[in-house]
Amino acid sequence: GAKEAGRGRCIAYGADMDRDREALGELEEQLRRSLDTDALSVAFQPVVAAATGAIVGVEALARWKTPQGPVSPDVFIPLAEKSGLIFRLGRKVLERSIRFAADRPGVDIAVNVSPTQLCAPDFADGIVEVIEREKFDPRRLILEVTEGVLFDSPVQARRSIDALRAKGIRFALDDFGTGYASIGTLNHFSFDRLKLDRSLVQALDSERGRALLNATVSLADALGIPVIVEGVETAEQAAYLRQLGCGYLQGYYFGRPMSDADFDSLPTRLARAG
Ligand code: C2E
Ligand code: MG
Ligand code: MG
Ligand code: MG
Repeated sequence: GAKEAGRGRCIAYGADMDRDREALGELEEQLRRSLDTDALSVAFQPVVAAATGAIVGVEALARWKTPQGPVSPDVFIPLAEKSGLIFRLGRKVLERSIRFAADRPGVDIAVNVSPTQLCAPDFADGIVEVIEREKFDPRRLILEVTEGVLFDSPVQARRSIDALRAKGIRFALDDFGTGYASIGTLNHFSFDRLKLDRSLVQALDSERGRALLNATVSLADALGIPVIVEGVETAEQAAYLRQLGCGYLQGYYFGRPMSDADFDSLPTRLARAG
């Protein structure tokens, strides 16, 4: 069934499942209602050029506040995928993100895309529609995908990616270095960015961990793919990654995911001492 197929798989459910209210639990009903309100919002986390600390981009991250408190995307994104709500959620995040970036010309905008979205036949058309309506430069949009969907190599995913790349939209392979992204994928798909998972950064305190990260960065270099390192939390990690020649850094050290007002109060460079 759909549940067992798990993360990263192309599954043939969508709009009709969206209508299947009976199957939805209370949390799913709550999520559905939140889609039309501010309870479902988008936070923006800065991405900096490692060499200068200049903010060159942001990643859009969905946020959900319920009366019981915030719910993690690790909970509500799978829920949205399972219930078909991911299409509406994805569209809301995209529209919000494009408007954010349209007002801030210096930054690229990265938006996460679920396997279920990427596999929908009208995925590329939906993205293009929003971009054209907002008159947004497609070269400033980066879609972040995880490997599973590509590894299964569904024809539809490739078709969507090819169509969108032809329009100038770029793709990043997310979570590289975890079970969800492996080397073979780099041979079969072209990516414009490689996002190194924060587990690789957390391992930097051991010699083995440093060897792994160094080799991963070398791999990206050899393929000519710029790297974004996620989960940079300390000055020491930032300094190490900078001297290693990583192109871009992202993490709590530079800034947490934040509201657009908070983003606007950031200095243009986030390189701190250290
Ligand atoms: P991701 O795309 O890999 O996003 C990076 C995650 O790392 C985010 O978690 C971010 O808040 C967190 N993070 C950033 N810097 C640091 C750091 O220095 N330390 C630590 N410990 N964590 C850091 P978040 O926001 O909880 O999102 C989790 C995942 O949910 C995302 O992982 C992404 O796969 C998914 N997600 C979030 N928003 C969306 C969305 O709009 N659409 C889809 N399809 N997926 C989304
Ligand atoms: Mg991401
Ligand atoms: Mg990631
Ligand atoms: Mg992820």
